[in-house]
Amino acid sequence: MKIGTPKEVMEGEARVAMTPDSAKMLQKLGYDCAIETGAGDKAGFPDAAYEEAGVEIIKTAAALYKEADVIAKVQPPTDTEVKRLSEKKLLISFFWPGQNEDLMKAAADKGASVIAMDMVPRISRAQKMDALSSMANIAGYRAVIEAGNNFGRFFTGQVTAAGKVPPAKVLIVGAGVAGLAAIGTSTSLGAITLAFDVRPEVAEQVESMGAEFVYLDFEEDQEDGSESGGYAKPSSPEFREAQLAKFRELAPDVDIVITTALIPNREAPELWTEDMVKAMKPGSVIVDLAAEKGGNCKLTQKDKKIVTDNGVTIIGYTDFPSRMAKQSSLLYATNIRHLMTDLTPEKDGQVNHNMEDDVIRGATVAHEKEVTFPPPPPKTK
Ligand code: NAD
Repeated sequence: MKIGTPKEVMEGEARVAMTPDSAKMLQKLGYDCAIETGAGDKAGFPDAAYEEAGVEIIKTAAALYKEADVIAKVQPPTDTEVKRLSEKKLLISFFWPGQNEDLMKAAADKGASVIAMDMVPRISRAQKMDALSSMANIAGYRAVIEAGNNFGRFFTGQVTAAGKVPPAKVLIVGAGVAGLAAIGTSTSLGAITLAFDVRPEVAEQVESMGAEFVYLDFEEDQEDGSESGGYAKPSSPEFREAQLAKFRELAPDVDIVITTALIPNREAPELWTEDMVKAMKPGSVIVDLAAEKGGNCKLTQKDKKIVTDNGVTIIGYTDFPSRMAKQSSLLYATNIRHLMTDLTPEKDGQVNHNMEDDVIRGATVAHEKEVTFPPPPPKTK
């Protein structure tokens, strides 16, 4: 069978789903590999690098879709791309099935199978295929770099002949995958780093990374914001008030705020209010990684950078992984390669779409002319 990767068509998307290295591994599984010419250019992988890795270069997307049995890409398919699918073809990409029901139905009607990378169950066995985590890790790192780029001072404190420089103070709200990556980056740059999450079990992780966990002045401090699967649940009004009171206290003191707080299947909780922005010092920076879901900061504008009247920069970009396209492509292509390994138990270049396998079943949203989303809960951990 042949695995093909087309050029991404979404404007601004610089990632690519197959790299020369991943192609070599896919060939070891028995597959032929192909890319559309120029597919890796924006991520720093020219056609020549693919050719050297034994990848066929195909001139047009139409020809690639025709020739490949498995199409691996990053963004969900467009209508045109779905029309190019046909019976027995397998599409692997981010898909966001809850938001793309028509697309999913159209792919199922075509008889194609679809594996949504965003639906890979977050169980231990599937970590190597967990593209949500690999991309969140990059977003957390890049959020700190972006903040630093817009902040006029050092992160680390210094004593120089020209004067003493205090360290920057960074607050990370939400210590999931992106938040922990941001904490690691911020502490390694030397900033005083504070972090908060509604899930108390992350306090230890935060502290082990050299950051300070922010505890609330909350009588029933025992409120546990954890839901099943390691995700958060909405807070009680009292807990939320205590959280906002603590943030109000911190706002004049912190230089950089990175917000990453999300609750599955909901709009992002609003945690950094207008008065907190107003209380911040001029030159401070907020990076809102929840911008896609409405933002944790009241003033965030999706995909924009704004500067408020009191001189606070608020960044609401939603394409952080694409801004580090080489790194993201390397990790995403590796996630796909691991998925293909599980789909190819015989290493014979033939897909065995085993719907009894929890991970494959969980991520499959269309198969044998049926929409297979939502999946049943996984049986294993
Ligand atoms: P996420 O993107 O859904 O949320 C980000 C963080 O925001 C979470 O830590 C959440 O607790 C926090 N949050 C929600 N509301 C908040 C509020 N009001 N104030 C402050 N913080 C708030 O989460 P994620 O990063 O995708 O991961 C969440 C969990 O899943 C983590 O425990 C992670 O370790 C776990 N996980 C497990 C696996 C695996 O086992 N394979 C893979 C990935 C993630």
